[in-house]
Amino acid sequence: MSQSIDATAVAAAFTEAFGGTPDGVWAAPGRVNLIGEHTDYNEGFVLPFAIDRAAAVAIKLRTDNVARLRSSYGEALTVSVNLDTLSHESMQGWTAYPLGVVWVMRQMGITLGGFDLFLHSTVPSGAGLSSSAAIECAVATAFNELESAGLSLNELVLVGQRAENEVVGAPTGILDQSASLLATEGHGVFLDCRTQESKAVPLDLDAANLLILVVDTKVSHAHATGGYSARRASCELGAEVLGVAALRDVSVSGLPEAAGLLDEETYRRVRHIVTENQRVLDTIAVLGHAGPGAIGDLLTASHASMRDDFEISCPELDLAVDTALAHGALGARMTGGGFGGSAIALIPAASEATVREGVLQAFAAAGFTAPDIFAVSAAPGARRIA
Ligand code: ADP
Ligand code: MG
Repeated sequence: MSQSIDATAVAAAFTEAFGGTPDGVWAAPGRVNLIGEHTDYNEGFVLPFAIDRAAAVAIKLRTDNVARLRSSYGEALTVSVNLDTLSHESMQGWTAYPLGVVWVMRQMGITLGGFDLFLHSTVPSGAGLSSSAAIECAVATAFNELESAGLSLNELVLVGQRAENEVVGAPTGILDQSASLLATEGHGVFLDCRTQESKAVPLDLDAANLLILVVDTKVSHAHATGGYSARRASCELGAEVLGVAALRDVSVSGLPEAAGLLDEETYRRVRHIVTENQRVLDTIAVLGHAGPGAIGDLLTASHASMRDDFEISCPELDLAVDTALAHGALGARMTGGGFGGSAIALIPAASEATVREGVLQAFAAAGFTAPDIFAVSAAPGARRIA
């Protein structure tokens, strides 16, 4: 089944929901984080790429201050709110993502009146592929253009992050929105989360006869906000005790000294972040001189660090990783915030059926829900599609 967004179909769905023709249709992709997990809010490095699954919004501006929103997902219900009385209470459920963006833009002084908005997304929700940032970035890109707000891509990243932090209430960093907004086709986004400086890194899997498989374990991370916040708090504690602005400032050679200053658990949390930052830098170096076929061990080491030191994996993710490796994957790791969601496996293209079958059988044997397994390619970032 194609997961590419059909702009004409989204516009038609808008017309069916609200009547009239939308002013435009904008799409923003979900992402796979190739490596660099939980490093973003530690002002470190990440290397995500946008995937060929996206959220699309068809929008028509209104002449009043009413916003009407509908999604193709779930019940065909239209939510209607008055933007002048927008409060955190009136931004509930999925509408917190688009309305959160609108709220932040209005807070920034951007004049933004009423609108009708229809959302259709092919990014699975709660699977660790950032369906949430895809919505935020599609909406932010749309209103940036519709209201001629003139925000840069990096500013739009921060709009999406603020919506997620302040309205949705998830204390996430800038990884997801950066991937969704800055990505270019066939490339990863190497991002320094301290400076927001980014570089497109070629990720030519086809030329190397490789592909990246996503194993969506169907374990929703939706209830893991507490775990995510706890990890974030551990990192902040570690930085405070070590006397640095952020864990970005600790190097691998500084770990033995850190071990003497931190309690055992905080030390392991810190060690994950510090070694993960180094693994991102190593991945960039290896991609540059040896290509994607040589990064497998770094991906697998990243998973072990998340499983053992940061403790954000789960049995389903570990099984997906171990089974993919046993069936010929060059490297594998969970991707995204953890506690569920998806794993990725870097595999020779010729092994696709073997890895897929192996993982499906292992999940069945373990009594786990059958995972959804699909290949992803490095897609372009947010853009207008109609
Ligand atoms: P992730 O970003 O990893 O997919 P999140 O919990 O951050 O997981 O975001 C998932 C939430 O995004 C859902 O609970 C829902 O509110 C919203 N969402 C995702 N896809 C859609 C959609 N197609 N329509 C409406 N809301 C969606
Ligand atoms: Mg999310």
